[in-house]
Amino acid sequence: MSKSVNIDWNNLAFSYIKTEFRYVSRWKDGKWDDGSLIEDNKLSISEASTALHYGQQCFEGLKAYRTKEEKIQLFRPDQNAKRMNDSCKRVLMPEIPEEKFIDACIQVVKANEAYIPPHGTGATLYLRPFMIGVGDNLGVKPAPEFIFCVFCVPVGPYFKGGMTPVNFTIADYDRASPWGTGASKVGGNYAGSLLAHEEAVKKGFADCIYLDPATHTKIEEVGAANFFGITKNDKFITPKSPSILPSITKYSLMHIAKEYLEMEVEEIDVPVENLDEFKEAGACGTAAVITPIGGIDYKDNLHVFYSETEVGPVTKKLYNTLYGIQFGDVKAPEGWIVEVK
Ligand SMILES: *Cc1c(COP(=O)(O)O)cnc(C)c1O
Repeated sequence: MSKSVNIDWNNLAFSYIKTEFRYVSRWKDGKWDDGSLIEDNKLSISEASTALHYGQQCFEGLKAYRTKEEKIQLFRPDQNAKRMNDSCKRVLMPEIPEEKFIDACIQVVKANEAYIPPHGTGATLYLRPFMIGVGDNLGVKPAPEFIFCVFCVPVGPYFKGGMTPVNFTIADYDRASPWGTGASKVGGNYAGSLLAHEEAVKKGFADCIYLDPATHTKIEEVGAANFFGITKNDKFITPKSPSILPSITKYSLMHIAKEYLEMEVEEIDVPVENLDEFKEAGACGTAAVITPIGGIDYKDNLHVFYSETEVGPVTKKLYNTLYGIQFGDVKAPEGWIVEVK
């Protein structure tokens, strides 16, 4: 159990703070060791590690939430475990058993209990599981050894002072290739997106939206969040493509739209020329939950959805339901919540 901490819970950003404990497990000679919690936040690895040269690594992101009743809960960690293993398979890293992944997350949350923000602040404890290829290796091939680690950081709500829509621009670059690693949560996708993000911000946009890399005619996703739109007849639409990172938040919102809000839901092509079919749009992911999209700049035209300053009613309902489930105020579907005891 961690010591008490001195943190201003109401002014947390999404930035690194060293917490007390992290989980580390090593893979060698075909198997994972038992893993343990350590206090040191530095990893000592070979200069020839594949993670450093050939990008052999992947990561995950999920949160621990404190409920009104002071229970601590994780949101769908089994989905993060499954997705991490899909990423591992794609870049030839050993899979991590689902129970080991969830147990590591639980150990880290419990050990850093003092860092879990109070209920009502909107802040959460963000968990960052990741795996890297390590060991002495020079040629392009899978590493001889691997490290799986989970650390945690208390983070603030994405929206200080309420949800506000932001504007995006269409990227001049691709984040993924048609049959590349777009659907895997690997760092290389992000290295390639830094320049596109920086250029979007310089032009005054919050971030950029990527089009499909094969034809550049269909919306794929935002840099670190998936896209959804609400049609004029209240359908929830989200793009379908093999190069989109399958967002757990997105699939959760599809379920919420269908089962809680009785909306029709479709995962289909979203041509960038047809943006006026949507009366609302948003970006969704673990960090942001939902970012309402005010407008999208395409070919020097800003297409505005609901409003550049106000959040549309359907987006608001989706957000409140998801947020309520995550913080324990709305009944969750079977299996979505794992209590940390
Ligand atoms: C992690 C990530 C998302 C969001 O996924 P969630 O599971 O909802 O957090 C979306 N796009 C990319 C590229 C990502 O890496």
